[in-house]
Amino acid sequence: TFSGVPEAPKDPILGLNELFREDPSPLKVNLGVGAYRTEENRPYVLGVVKRVEQELANNPNTLHEYLPIEGLPEFRSLSARLVFGERSPALKEQRVVSLQSLSGTGSLRLVAEFLSKFYQRGAVCYLPRPTWGNHWNIFPAAGIKCREYRYYSDETHEVDIIGLLDDLTAAPSGSIVLLHACAHNPTGADPSMTQWQEILDVIRKKQHFPLFDCAYQGFASGSFERDAAAVRLFERATVPASEADGARERPMEMAVTQSFAKNMGLYGERVGAAHIVCAAPAVTQAVLSQMKQIARGLYSSPPAHGATIAARILKDRALFAEWETEVHVMSSRILRMRRELFEALHENKTPGNWEHILSQIGMFSFLGLSAEQCLYLREKYHIYMTTNGRISMAGLTSDKVQYLADAIRDAVVR
Ligand code: PMP
Repeated sequence: TFSGVPEAPKDPILGLNELFREDPSPLKVNLGVGAYRTEENRPYVLGVVKRVEQELANNPNTLHEYLPIEGLPEFRSLSARLVFGERSPALKEQRVVSLQSLSGTGSLRLVAEFLSKFYQRGAVCYLPRPTWGNHWNIFPAAGIKCREYRYYSDETHEVDIIGLLDDLTAAPSGSIVLLHACAHNPTGADPSMTQWQEILDVIRKKQHFPLFDCAYQGFASGSFERDAAAVRLFERATVPASEADGARERPMEMAVTQSFAKNMGLYGERVGAAHIVCAAPAVTQAVLSQMKQIARGLYSSPPAHGATIAARILKDRALFAEWETEVHVMSSRILRMRRELFEALHENKTPGNWEHILSQIGMFSFLGLSAEQCLYLREKYHIYMTTNGRISMAGLTSDKVQYLADAIRDAVVR
């Protein structure tokens, strides 16, 4: 029987939504949501997505058959092109194994299972401190131990590049290193391109395995190119080859997991991909076959609806352009909220330097509030955020900015 089963703790993010729903106060503000909201605080279905869905609904050839284990062929290649770029050497040389998987989370789990089975036995995965909490569920579930590397400085509100490089240097050679491709969650602080180069240098030297979690391409800066710059820098890197290879350098192996939850607003459709960049095309067939074997046992085949929509948009020039415009609208609203909140905190003379709200990127802002201050905001003002002081800029609307800024001021001066 299950009488001895202890209750699991609530997920810190999803649990917050439950608390918000239960709060009857008309003042309540949900800054915990990890989903885009409009200026009217409504969920948003992209216009281009709606149109493609209507088209699919009216098309008599739309079926609900199973996809292959590895997913929709067009989606696999087009999603790879989006993240690696038109001129990607790895794609040109056919060194990339791409599988459609269950959004970002499922793709991460799939890669984790693959690494657990076929990468160096006992290799540890290094996660940034802090990171998206679910990373701590995913890797151990696949039998991979996790440790942290320093990522963020609470004092400067920037990437702690010295600590980061030190920790990756001290990590055992061949460790797995998880990197956020852009719009680091929860801090909103990304390395500069110079810093990415330094990170790459350490990873090459130590022969670590980089794994990019790419959940916000286009959402951070409004540009798909800019938000994929770090991934593309690494993808073009080479590492010293062993003498057995008979060559001086070979392409670096790495993995990328990709989510279309945010940038296409397809959260619940679970649209994503796992890409393994191999050093040589000869190994891709075996790698693909093993990834399929793992996917078969986990969920058999991925969902068709969302990936069909995404593939249509990625394939068609006009639809793609429309998508790009809508991504830009979403990212611009988030930037505007950053500016408005910063200005309100400045005007109401909240003590402290709040410049980081402007310099951070992506959906989240790491305010630098203590857990106690976050709970105070929740109890007194019905403002919901995770207790690490992360707010979702997408959950903020202009009419709530002043209320939030004044509440923060109260929490800080109290
Ligand atoms: N990685 C990061 C860093 C994220 O923030 C998210 C979304 N919150 C994901 C992965 C994956 O989300 P999903 O599974 O919904 O694509």
